[in-house]
Amino acid sequence: MTVARFTPVGDVRVDAALTATEFARRERLVRTEDHAAYTAAHLLVRACAGELLGVAPTTLSLEQHCPSCGGVDHGRPSLAGHEDVYVSLSHTRGYVAAIASHAPCGIDVELRAATIPSRALTGRESGWVRAQPDPPDAFTRLWVRKEALIKLGAPGPGRPGEIDVLTAPQGVRLTAWSSQGAHGCAAVKTGGTPAGDWPRHDLEGSAAWNGPRRPPATRSSCTR
Ligand SMILES: [Zn+2]
Repeated sequence: MTVARFTPVGDVRVDAALTATEFARRERLVRTEDHAAYTAAHLLVRACAGELLGVAPTTLSLEQHCPSCGGVDHGRPSLAGHEDVYVSLSHTRGYVAAIASHAPCGIDVELRAATIPSRALTGRESGWVRAQPDPPDAFTRLWVRKEALIKLGAPGPGRPGEIDVLTAPQGVRLTAWSSQGAHGCAAVKTGGTPAGDWPRHDLEGSAAWNGPRRPPATRSSCTR
């Protein structure tokens, strides 16, 4: 079973509290909207896990561990005392996403990119993005899939620009989400049969968007 949510930051209402580690991490964020998004994402993942487990979100404590530097205020999230549950969360300005599952999972949400970082894509992906009617929008849809799969661990080791997600790895179920210039993707390991190529119809088309823009950061190593 899996519970996943994509939602505007302001719609998150969860009766739960952040841990001292989460509070400290949040205080390092400079902008008020980043505070709000951080809080919303960290509460939303408790709500997803609470629904999955049939327990109140107040009973759940989120932990994180960074395999690169050993930090405990960033990196892969997990639920204290629930080793059988996988969780993932993401926040961007205005939107948050979270997922909880009994299978490995990853989730990402991003605002539509203003530019396309060339190092983020393989050659084949770059060609596909350039061929779309709205390349920055297509890039963002592709990027959130890449991030979700990286968080799940499906593509294996490698930099984002070396992982081609136009071809789906075996045994992963993908769910795409879009709203008002934001795109998201959830990936859940199914252990099933090969999924074949990505459902590219999900990557086509674009929505009008006049809001703030920023390119998704490329991931090369821990940046704390
Ligand atoms: Zn780290």
